[in-house]
Amino acid sequence: MARAPKRWRQRPEAGTLGKELTRRSGGRCELCGGRGEVRVYELPPFPLEPDAERALLGCASCRDALEGGALDPIEARFLQTAVWDERIAVKLAAARLLIALDGANHPWTREALEAIDVDPETGEFRAPEPEVEESTRRSRR
Ligand SMILES: [Zn+2]
Repeated sequence: MARAPKRWRQRPEAGTLGKELTRRSGGRCELCGGRGEVRVYELPPFPLEPDAERALLGCASCRDALEGGALDPIEARFLQTAVWDERIAVKLAAARLLIALDGANHPWTREALEAIDVDPETGEFRAPEPEVEESTRRSRR
């Protein structure tokens, strides 16, 4: 199975989420709280229809970082807070940026990453392991 990274271009349909996400975020970047060129950003892979659970409002620099642009580890400290966000898309985006930063070997990125369950290979939350429930049941006997 080929695993060549696919470039996902932001699509115009994402605009349909604009109102909802602006309300959700108060018009600020949901990652860093900045206000510069805030726009809807869909997290790849895209669902068929734009979904607020897979999209966030991002400022120019956060959107650029999500596209693989450089991120200053000092300025990126906001990710430490963002990984605990209750908005699932924000959490996931923060995790992806942390994974990208981890290559730079900053101890705090590792710590923050250990706290969340995102697979660096797929960039998605790990599915809960089915064995857990099984072993819980067994230990109850
Ligand atoms: Zn931002």
